[in-house]
Amino acid sequence: MIEIIAATGNVNKVKEFKEILGNDYDVKSLKDIGLKLDVVEDADTFYGNALIKAKAIAEATGKIALADDSGLVVDALGGAPGVYSARYSGEDGNDVLNRAKLLKEMAGVENRTARFHAAIVLYYPDGTIIHTEGDTEGTILYKEEGENGFGYDSLFYSTDLNQSFGVADSDAKNAVSHRGRALKALVEILNAKE
Ligand code: IMP
Repeated sequence: MIEIIAATGNVNKVKEFKEILGNDYDVKSLKDIGLKLDVVEDADTFYGNALIKAKAIAEATGKIALADDSGLVVDALGGAPGVYSARYSGEDGNDVLNRAKLLKEMAGVENRTARFHAAIVLYYPDGTIIHTEGDTEGTILYKEEGENGFGYDSLFYSTDLNQSFGVADSDAKNAVSHRGRALKALVEILNAKE
C-alpha cells in the first residue's frame, strides 16, 4: 500500500479520497498523523492553492501529499465567488452567510449558470507533481432546496442529477461532483503509470 497524506481535516473529503483511490492507497488525514499546519492559501487559482497545500505537507512529512481546492464559479458574477468561495461573506463568514450573499448578488439575475470546480494536486517528496481538474455544471436556485451536503449545495441545481445537491444523497453527488471527477482523472493517471 502506498501511503498518502491528505492535506485536509475534513473527514468527508478523506472518505471520498479513500473510496475513489481504492485499496492500493493508504490515505491518512493530517489528524491521523497528528500534524497541524497553517498554510496561507493566497494563490489566485484553484490549482495554485492546491499546490501550496500539497507542497507544504510533502515537505513537512517527507511523504506523498494530496490536496484539493474547490469552489463555485458563477458566470453572471464574472466567475465569483471562485477561489474566495469559503470566505465570500468575509473572513469571519460561514456557509449560511455565504449562501445569503450569493442569493443577494443573484437577485434579479436571469443567467444563473454556474459550476463547481476542483483542482487536485498529488505532490511527491522528490517534487514530482500530478495535477487534475474537475467540473460539475448547474444553475443557481432562487431559494435553498434540501439540507444535505455543505457550502453552496442547497443553492446548486445539478444538470447531471436534475436535482439540487442539497437534495441529492452523497453517493449520487460524489458520482458527478467536481471533486469526484478530478479524483477519477487522478486515478486514471496513476493506473497508467503502473
Ligand atoms: P475548499 O476546497 O474545501 O476550501 O472549499 C472551498 C469552498 O467552496 C467551500 O467552503 C464551499 O463554500 C465551496 N465548495 C467547494 N466544494 C463544494 C461542494 O461540493 N458543495 C458546496 N460547496 C462547495
